[in-house]
Amino acid sequence: MATDSLVSTDIDYTQDGKQVSVLRVPQSLNTAGWANYFIPIAVIQNGSGPTVLLSGGNHGDEYEGQVTLLNLVRELQPEQVQGRLIILPMLNRPACVAGTRLSPLDGRNMNRAFPGQRNDTITGMIAHYVSSVLLPLADIVVDIHSGGRTLQFTPSVNMHELANKTQMNEMVRAATAWGAPYVFIYADVAGEGLLPSYAESLGKITLGTELGSAPQFGVDMLGLADRGLKNMLRMYGVLTDSPYAPPIPAPQLVAATDSADYVMASVSGIFEPFLEMGDPVEPGQKLGQIHSTELPFAAPVPVLAQTGGILFGRCGFPLTHQGACIATIVRPYTLT
Ligand code: CA
Repeated sequence: MATDSLVSTDIDYTQDGKQVSVLRVPQSLNTAGWANYFIPIAVIQNGSGPTVLLSGGNHGDEYEGQVTLLNLVRELQPEQVQGRLIILPMLNRPACVAGTRLSPLDGRNMNRAFPGQRNDTITGMIAHYVSSVLLPLADIVVDIHSGGRTLQFTPSVNMHELANKTQMNEMVRAATAWGAPYVFIYADVAGEGLLPSYAESLGKITLGTELGSAPQFGVDMLGLADRGLKNMLRMYGVLTDSPYAPPIPAPQLVAATDSADYVMASVSGIFEPFLEMGDPVEPGQKLGQIHSTELPFAAPVPVLAQTGGILFGRCGFPLTHQGACIATIVRPYTLT
């Protein structure tokens, strides 16, 4: 594959079988003048069929995708695959190792770094390799996220609302195959440069997830990640271990497409919720209140919903700060 990327690997993307290796990202450090940082990668390929690019650890403190994809690489044999899986279980490995959302090496957010540049910081160089080498190979792109330390979520498989309705309807079909409680259409309220946005712009069948959060990490969420991913791969005939079965019950399709659906804290302090996730919300309803840590006996500042629907996401840690998203409200969505 011709690329001007500075990242190298001994993976041969045209070869059948299972390959487990690393991407080598150039580094030059005080402790090692000539160095490479290793990002784990696996390719499992058998004959012709779709190419699926799977990533976890885009945000380092989100371990659902990391564990699911590490298990998948160890478990899957090429005979169970028809097509090609390219798997990056720890895309932002410096952040995964540090247990942080952002890379500790350059302070950057991998999910704001796309498409990246050839000669960039480490995060941008990894993004550039994915953009210039791996995404052109892929038909289906899955980037497994959760809320990590900062957000709680009702489990969902998600995507943006797209102008290309053929692409979007196919993405909803793929998302539905996971059998998560919700398929969630979201809007970007915190910047651009997302891996899924870039993959969507290339016309790829692109899925993200929000599988709970660090406090929700456990058997249920990991089971949903593993079963859902495999069921989606069976629907496309890429995983041939057993037949595809449509999930019962079917997920609900919901959306938060209005920026007012993302409620940001007006002041810093301790957020006290009045609703649990999944509860109905009326416009103007008090979602909770924020207690000042500097004026503890002052009246708490109410947090009001501007839109109605159901409470879908909430801040993941009670101590919040001004401008942080503390609630996400969704409504049922109909495909056109
Ligand atoms: Ca995330």
